[in-house]
Amino acid sequence: MLKIETQKYVYSAWLNLNFAEILIIIVKKLIMIDVKSFTFNPFQENMYILSDDTNECIIIDPGCYEGREKEELTQYISSKKLVPKRLLNTHCHIDHVFGNKLVSETYNLELEIHKADLPVLESVAQVAHLYNIPNVDESPKPSSFLNEGDKITFGHSELDILFVPGHAPGHIAFVNHNQKFVIGGDVLFYTSIGRTDLPGGDHETLIESIKTKFFTLADDYEVYSGHGQKTTIGFEKSNNPFLQ
Ligand SMILES: [Zn+2]
Ligand SMILES: [Zn+2]
Repeated sequence: MLKIETQKYVYSAWLNLNFAEILIIIVKKLIMIDVKSFTFNPFQENMYILSDDTNECIIIDPGCYEGREKEELTQYISSKKLVPKRLLNTHCHIDHVFGNKLVSETYNLELEIHKADLPVLESVAQVAHLYNIPNVDESPKPSSFLNEGDKITFGHSELDILFVPGHAPGHIAFVNHNQKFVIGGDVLFYTSIGRTDLPGGDHETLIESIKTKFFTLADDYEVYSGHGQKTTIGFEKSNNPFLQ
């Protein structure tokens, strides 16, 4: 008896929705993006793999440095039967590009970055020497550049690009409005912001980027950062000591 009543309730809930509303719910479910993060390398950098129901995926800031980290990344992709479609860097600091060569060669992908970060990419070998980090794979050069306003598409999914310099001169972030999240790189962290003392960094530019780009997003947008735990726009607006 109880079962029949429950079923009736479910039917009537569905009937109260019109066809367009039901269609929107189904389509939204279909294009849900799975955000997988790995924390890799001596700098504890967060890299991200975004995939959807088509199994197509994009790889952002592959920071895998040691053999076991590279293995973990490729294992994840093969075990999920993912098909990598794009290789993107939010910016080209050494901790975000360690795995560019592996990903580019393994999945036959061209690197895509913002043009203003090309000098940063080209200085990686020098930085590796400075920090005394051995065996850094040389990243491939990008074949094309990304700009604010461009769309990144894969499977049924789409991301917008924001140009957010300050931590690095060509720093970009990837926004998904359907699920309300940002892959933010080293711009905004949980109760902190990116450092600006590295070449090409500028504190005022960074604050401007956060306030005019990130903070125009709604409070419930989640921020997946390049280091540390994820946060939200609203939490950082209220609690980040650098942005009060
Ligand atoms: Zn950085
Ligand atoms: Zn970083």
